[in-house]
Amino acid sequence: MPAAMTDHPGAGGLPGLYVHIPFCLRKCGYCGFFSVTDRECFPEFLTALGREAALHGPGWGRFDSLHIGGGTPSLLPADDLVRLLDDLRTCFTIDPAAEITVEVNPGDVDPQYLRTLRSAGVNRLTIGCQSFDDAVLAFLGRRHTARQALAAVEAARGAGFANIGLDLIFGIPGQSADHWRQTLAGACSLGPDHLSCYQLTIEAGTPFARRHNSGEIALPDDETQADLFLATSRTLADKGFLQYEVSNFARSRGTESRHNSKYWRHTPYLGLGPAAHSFDGRRRWWNVRSVEGYIAELRAGRLPAAESELLTADQLRTEALFLGMRTSEGVNLGEFRRRFGQDLRGEKADLIARLAKEGLVELRDGCLRPTRAGMAVSDSLALL
Ligand code: SF4
Repeated sequence: MPAAMTDHPGAGGLPGLYVHIPFCLRKCGYCGFFSVTDRECFPEFLTALGREAALHGPGWGRFDSLHIGGGTPSLLPADDLVRLLDDLRTCFTIDPAAEITVEVNPGDVDPQYLRTLRSAGVNRLTIGCQSFDDAVLAFLGRRHTARQALAAVEAARGAGFANIGLDLIFGIPGQSADHWRQTLAGACSLGPDHLSCYQLTIEAGTPFARRHNSGEIALPDDETQADLFLATSRTLADKGFLQYEVSNFARSRGTESRHNSKYWRHTPYLGLGPAAHSFDGRRRWWNVRSVEGYIAELRAGRLPAAESELLTADQLRTEALFLGMRTSEGVNLGEFRRRFGQDLRGEKADLIARLAKEGLVELRDGCLRPTRAGMAVSDSLALL
């Protein structure tokens, strides 16, 4: 049984289950996630995934979220995804009211595909739209068009999905705040229940990193990035969205991503698949970053963990601050004191007062929270 289920010092709540599907038709130029384009080993991969689930067994107790991400899960035929869900339900206890999310690429899905997922119990989709400008999509190396993104959202509603999230990217070279506002307006016109707005970053080892290093592309400067961030925050607030994390916006409390919230709250999660990470409240471990290596380990009857680290109390404390100050909930000072024995309000009174005066944090209902301006610099707030 994982330590998480006995005496973990992390936040409470049921654990989450993540499954990484490490295949893409082709790699997007900016992407640093682990995925491969050779899909010949699909069947062996699915068998390995089933073995990994069986090896972990029921020790994790009940999961109330399941997130199938990637890579591109929607490259799997719908019947394979249904079988995968069946396997997971056989190996684990998944709460009947669990949030079950599948990430889909707009280029892959049609109404029948989505109806099959919905019938299998998938109740949330995240659709990787990224932009509604075909020139931007081509620049990013995406393989779908804006029209396909619109059709995917329509098909998802038609299939009965009541919880649809759209992923968007901002900070494209040369992008103005007006262009980005148009993207946001286009997204909002589709009536999403959730929006994730990620700033384009340059990930080491990607084609974008090479182009960036050679001077071929340049990201917007810090001032423009700050403008784009604030444009996101203000535009979506005006449209009625809650910014519950730096990059994440929900139509209502009920459509916040339950699964992602576990990462920010230090709630345990189990990750299956190559390169997937897990956390049991104290220990974090991650699987081998190779599809062949993953399959080989499981064929030999071994769990495919590559490495693990036991987090010290100080590391957990720093992470709790870092993660908490990225969320609108902030850091609950009483809870923080209970977990880490540190009275932030007393020990950091001067610093908190200064940050409050600068309009970056506020103390409310026993929580230290970032303001909108504070969220824009949330990484530096973790230095408290
Ligand atoms: S961004 Fe998504 S679709 Fe593109 S390569 Fe990365 S995982 Fe695959």
